Formats: sequence, structure tokens, C-alpha cells
Amino acid sequence: MAAMDRLPPQVAVVGSANVDLVARTERLPGPGETVLGHEFFEAPGGKGLNQAVAAARAGARTAFVAMVGKDAAADLVRSVLDADHIDASAVGTCDLPTGRALIGVSDDGENSIIVVPGANARLLPPSITVHGPLIAAAGVVLAQLEVPIETIIAAFEAARAVGVTTILNPAPATALPRELLQLVDICVPNEHEAELLGGVASLLDAGATTVVVTEGERGASVTSAAGSYRVPAFVVVPVDTTAAGDSFCGALAARLAVGDPLPEALRWAAAAGALATTRVGAVPSVPHLDELESVLGIAAR
Ligand code: ADP
Repeated sequence: MAAMDRLPPQVAVVGSANVDLVARTERLPGPGETVLGHEFFEAPGGKGLNQAVAAARAGARTAFVAMVGKDAAADLVRSVLDADHIDASAVGTCDLPTGRALIGVSDDGENSIIVVPGANARLLPPSITVHGPLIAAAGVVLAQLEVPIETIIAAFEAARAVGVTTILNPAPATALPRELLQLVDICVPNEHEAELLGGVASLLDAGATTVVVTEGERGASVTSAAGSYRVPAFVVVPVDTTAAGDSFCGALAARLAVGDPLPEALRWAAAAGALATTRVGAVPSVPHLDELESVLGIAAR
């Protein structure tokens, strides 16, 4: 569907799309060695794609601003977007391969991962210029750090100029220019990322308005100039924590975009993060609206 044929998005996610190629083997190979694997699967991933799916499943009309290649992996990414009714009009195509993660997992649980950003590295500021209207029409723009930082800065500048809320999930952690942090309304690191970025006080000092630190099964803590409070975790039996943080960020963006105040949006986010840990994988483990409503005790519409 062309962008103009539909209502504007409530959430625009600017970020990465990858396909994970996972091989299971008795033990990981050393340098120069070949080993036999006994299982293989491909799965869509990338923080941007996971968070776009999470925002859509939490009930927001969502658009994804990303870059893929001209390959079968791009078709898989597009099919995921299609299945969750995510606007893919700002998913561009370039000559590099779609981002891939080559993941070896041994039977005793060790892994070894090669990430090739590929097309993700080509999501550059001109894409933001082209898709500026999509971002300006959204209520919330959500980004992570798996695409070039100058692109995130351009997206957040476009958002700030028209009062669109900006949320940054600073993952994977890397030094952040003040120029970026000054454009961030809500910064959502996990504990490890918060520490690498110099702590909550320094993120606030550098210009983020609110910092939400996610703390796994202990929930999250929120700090702004107005003070701080905790967001309790939902009690679940976790089987795989992959995509907990992505589900949290996507749901937070979605609920703010549909008009919930921050504490209520954070309750949804905590429910989404908790539910994501009860299933294996990334995209398949991201909870749907009806599951969130039932955990939150909200009568289904
Ligand atoms: P990340 O996946 O980025 O490391 P966290 O592990 O902090 O992020 O998880 C994000 C959020 O998901 C947490 O703030 C919490 O609300 C929820 N969550 C994660 N793990 C659990 C768990 N074991 N039980 C309940 N909630 C969890």
C-alpha cells in the first residue's frame, strides 16, 4: 500500500533489519576448523525490526524506516512487516546485502556470532530527508544504535522540529555525542548500557529529558528532573530473554503514541518485556495486544 493511501503512522521506528542464520553444533569450530552442525534455521531480527513489530503488536500504527539489500533476506524482512501491517514505504533497497548475523550455538550453550551490518550501514541522512514527512506525521519516533548515528540525529532533528516525541534505546552501547542526547526525550538503556554510558546522571546532564533503565526481572527505574520512581516487573517464568528489551521499547513507544501517560505506557512496556521472556526467539516472542491486555487486566475490545 502506498504511504498516502493510509492513515499516518503513530510510531516511526528508525533502525536495523537483520536475518539471523543460526547453526547448532556439538562444539564451536576453532580457527581453520570445520565442524558438522545438526540444526539450522533462519530468523528475522535486528533491533529496529524487533521494535517495529513490538510497537505494532502493542496497538500502534507503525512505520519502519530502514535499508535492506536485493536478496532473499530482504523478502523475509518484508514478509514480517507485512504480517504485522507495518508501513514499509520507507524501507529502502541498496546494493549491499541485507544485514545478517551468523550465529553458531554449541550444545553446551556457548555461542559465537559474526554480525555483518551490510545494508543497515547505508541507512544514511538522505533517507531521513526523503521520509521526513512520515516521521513528522508520527507521534513518537523510536531508534537504536545499529544504524549510523548521523541518521538517528537527522531523524530526531526532524522529529523535534515538529514536537514528535523521541525515544532512544542506546543499544549496542557506544559513546553518544551530546548533539544526539540533546534531542532525546526518553533514553532507555539496560543496566549494562547505562553503566557504559556513564550512568543516569550523565545521560540527563547531556540532555536526555527522562532516563528509563531496564533491570530485567527487577523491572525498571525512571529518572527525570522531577524525580525518580520504579516500574515493577511482572512475575513470569522466563525461558529466553531475547527481545525483552526490544518488546519493552516498542510497547513504550506505542502506548505513548496512542495517548497513554508515561507511567501507564511503562506498565504496558513491563508487561511486553516480561511476556517476551516466556517464549524462544526474537520476532516470534514479541507479545500481541490481546496477551498484553490480559496480563494488564484490561477488558478486550
Ligand atoms: P535487555 O533485553 O535490553 O537486556 P532487560 O533484560 O532489562 O532488557 O528487559 C527489559 C524489560 O523486560 C525489563 O525492564 C522488565 O520490565 C522486563 N523483563 C525482562 N526480564 C524479565 C523477567 N525475567 N521477568 C519479568 N520481567 C522481565
